[in-house]
Amino acid sequence: MTKEENLKLYEEWVLKASAYEMALSVIGVDKMTIAPVGGNEYRDQRTAILAGELFELNTDPKIQKVLEELLKEELDGDTKKAVELYYQEMMKVVSIPKDEYVAFQNLKSKAYNDWLEAKTKNDYSIFEPTLTKLIEEVKKIYAYRKSDVPLYDQMLNDYEPGMTMAQYDDFFAQVKERLVPLIQRIAKAKQVDTSFLYKSYPIAKQREYMDEILKYIRFEPDWGYQNETEHPFTTWVCENDCRTTTKYLENNIIAAILSTVHEVGHATYEHDIDPKYDGMILSNGVSSGMHESQSRLMENYLGRTKAFWEYNYPKLQECFPEQLKDVSLDAFVDAINASSPSLIRTEADELTYPLHIMIRYEIEKRLFSGELSTENLDQTWNKMYEEYLGIHSENAKEGILQDVHWSETYFGYFPTYALGSAIAAQIVHTMRQQIDVDQLLRENRYDEIVKWLKENIHRYGCRYTANEILTKATGEPFNPKYYLDYLEEKYTKLYHLEG
Ligand code: ZN
Repeated sequence: MTKEENLKLYEEWVLKASAYEMALSVIGVDKMTIAPVGGNEYRDQRTAILAGELFELNTDPKIQKVLEELLKEELDGDTKKAVELYYQEMMKVVSIPKDEYVAFQNLKSKAYNDWLEAKTKNDYSIFEPTLTKLIEEVKKIYAYRKSDVPLYDQMLNDYEPGMTMAQYDDFFAQVKERLVPLIQRIAKAKQVDTSFLYKSYPIAKQREYMDEILKYIRFEPDWGYQNETEHPFTTWVCENDCRTTTKYLENNIIAAILSTVHEVGHATYEHDIDPKYDGMILSNGVSSGMHESQSRLMENYLGRTKAFWEYNYPKLQECFPEQLKDVSLDAFVDAINASSPSLIRTEADELTYPLHIMIRYEIEKRLFSGELSTENLDQTWNKMYEEYLGIHSENAKEGILQDVHWSETYFGYFPTYALGSAIAAQIVHTMRQQIDVDQLLRENRYDEIVKWLKENIHRYGCRYTANEILTKATGEPFNPKYYLDYLEEKYTKLYHLEG
């Protein structure tokens, strides 16, 4: 076939796949937010049919040939990169027999239910056999790729292209070396008062206040919509349509706000990708780590700063005069930055957070190397929390069963959470040299910060690799030094550990 014929087939295929993706995305968001649970069975069955069709489309041998031929052609840079990425993705799944693929999806649905039951009953033994089976099946599915790369490296690479165990080992070694002693010093220092954050804050009032925050962080109703769910998330549905969710807690004034700022960070990234990539593989965040860097940047490096609250705190006090009238801006900002080791990852503060991730990384790595089995894994988990964070619980619900990820076979995903925080630090370091972030925050000019991020990070989508984008933006590839320096400086000051 001629190049033109191949390009035409390729473009039709891209368009069709994006239509399926959009449909599945809408159904998924709907299910997780407002769809009545009574419809689950009917809905799940029909959704599985659509997903199966998309799988067939994504592994179509005719298109595989088209992509292979196009890879040999002279193409413009954008198309070339897109074809390469589509081909890479296709090669990951093309050898999996469709019935095995469907069986694997079904196993995941069952695994989710088993995990939920185990968590509800606080009993790891309910989930353990499922976890064993998941690991076996994941190994089989990856074996179809016939790759020489170690299994866990392949998994890491699926979420963060280019990252390997060797690189993560080095990153976490530095995290451990510099943060564990700091956390230990903080444990002995005078603690920050956070009690007022946990008074009663009626949810209806919190919702009202959230409109102010959404406006401030430029989450515009013409391209974004916020809902409420148990576990907040963000989904890109189609061009100019991003859905995020948040979760309100009556006895916590900061949780919903910071989780909103976090999710809007993800949404803004997706929204700001160059529209010329719409509907194409290039119109995605480049990696999980880079995605998380954009949400953490907004949550931690903007949303927890004094400058952010100089503008927003007076309005918060107006909304909750009883609860906050005697709390100064400084006391409030100190409280939302306080650090104290805790058992639940999603509630962890900025400083102890990467250690939660390090524990999961170590366990996953050893599970897939065969060094660890699922047997008594709950106890291994508890021991590691004791060792790294100095806290102990025998409660599986607050331990090994707290996260949904393994039931969904997201092995290799956790490390990108810590990586994201570290990438954000590097980006912020450069951004602060180029624009006056604090002044913009103080003056309700958040859009100018977003503009900087769009110019330097967001617009590229997947056109370049994460390290290429980072190098363009900051002048060097990923370097964890900025993150560790930032945390050391911030917490030394907050807890008066100087000297
Ligand atoms: Zn996130």
